[in-house]
Amino acid sequence: MTILQFDAVIVGAGIVGGTLAGLLIKGGRKIAVVEPRLPEPFEPESDFELRVSAISRASQRALVEVSAWERVLAKRAHAYEAMQVWDAGGSGEIRFDSSEMGEADLGHIVENNVIQSSLLEVLAKNTHVTLFTPSKVVSMSNTESGGRLITLDTGEQLSANLIVGADGSQSVIRDLAGLSVMREDYGQKGLVTVVKTEQAHQNTAWQRFLSGGPLAFLPLDNGYSSIVWTLPADRADRHLKQSEDEFKRVLAEALDYRLGAITDIGPRAAFPLMGSQASAYIATGVALVGDSAHTIHPLAGQGVNLGIKDAVALAELLSPLSSREWGSHKRLRQYERARKGDDVLTMKVMEGFKTLFGHDADVVKLARNTGLNIFNSIPLLKQQIMRSAMGL
Ligand SMILES: Cc1cc2nc3c(=O)[nH]c(=O)nc-3n(C[C@H](O)[C@H](O)[C@H](O)COP(=O)(O)OP(=O)(O)OC[C@H]3O[C@@H](n4cnc5c(N)ncnc54)[C@H](O)[C@@H]3O)c2cc1C
Repeated sequence: MTILQFDAVIVGAGIVGGTLAGLLIKGGRKIAVVEPRLPEPFEPESDFELRVSAISRASQRALVEVSAWERVLAKRAHAYEAMQVWDAGGSGEIRFDSSEMGEADLGHIVENNVIQSSLLEVLAKNTHVTLFTPSKVVSMSNTESGGRLITLDTGEQLSANLIVGADGSQSVIRDLAGLSVMREDYGQKGLVTVVKTEQAHQNTAWQRFLSGGPLAFLPLDNGYSSIVWTLPADRADRHLKQSEDEFKRVLAEALDYRLGAITDIGPRAAFPLMGSQASAYIATGVALVGDSAHTIHPLAGQGVNLGIKDAVALAELLSPLSSREWGSHKRLRQYERARKGDDVLTMKVMEGFKTLFGHDADVVKLARNTGLNIFNSIPLLKQQIMRSAMGL
């Protein structure tokens, strides 16, 4: 079978792989994208998807750049204007308001399939992209010219100077490149569902820190909210088995009835939560981006945003170079240096928050509640933190 040549092969057309492909084709490069499963086409009347992301301003800018953002807005996205965070173990409370920052909103809550399908529409229209789907990578080897060759389960063979692993936390490319991964099982699950509440969500992201983990209500259209509730794994499983009425009551109580009773609820699912870091983000002719390189605790909803930062950093580095240089170890090291520190730091900060808010000792509770209230009273400090979270 003929070997098909590309400037780069991106394995995985999730949000991160799709964004990277969109950025690289802007320079007229020839890109292959391999994806085993395409999302269902978006229907305006469809129920909300269970997986949503809080898209930061920096991620929004990247999606604008690849012409996917207008498609996202035309489908379904909800701007949130404030964030209210409080501690169940005391009186500590903090509020971030977009008006205090001179911004219209703090970001958007968007269903993952809305972003992914918008990116795929953009890629499908571009003649520089060849989409191999439904296809999986089965092997990877070196070529005589110093590039990489991958074979798909369909038998097709693709060659390029750079193979990008954007294939998520169970990355096959990471394994085929011989990179190990350090995992930390948090012993927790993220329980997700969609609810409607008695009181309006006020375009606010609500987050209450409970001793078992944080509970977030993220605003969606028509008064609905997407729920991400981090819980010890056994408790999450118990909540999945409860009757709808029982769970609605437990959930409203867990949010301290800030939005009143739960009046409508969709299906529930729970995902095991795992922190992970690949031993390296690069190997000969290979780079990892997004969840294939790292996964973090979802308590601040930064997973996709970190992955998009990887895609932007890699595209900025590669765009001015000839594609012959795309597999250069020296160049790829620059990418790794630019991203790994930020990813590890974010992971550690999230784990720090998880530990701090998981403590039941009175002295820790007092310290963190006092800290939250002091923090809330210093607008400049709050603005600085928020600007950095938004990627401004
Ligand atoms: C409960 C929960 C809540 C979360 N909430 C948020 C949030 O609010 N905000 C946020 O930013 N992040 C959140 N995250 C994290 C976020 O979902 C991930 O960081 C993000 O989806 C990673 O994107 P990705 O494109 O790197 O990987 P993925 O979304 O996993 O995409 C990988 C792609 O690769 C494909 N693939 C897999 N195997 C192969 C193969 N062998 N060959 C080819 N392709 C393959 C897959 O089909 C998929 O399309 C949350 C995570 C969890 C568990």
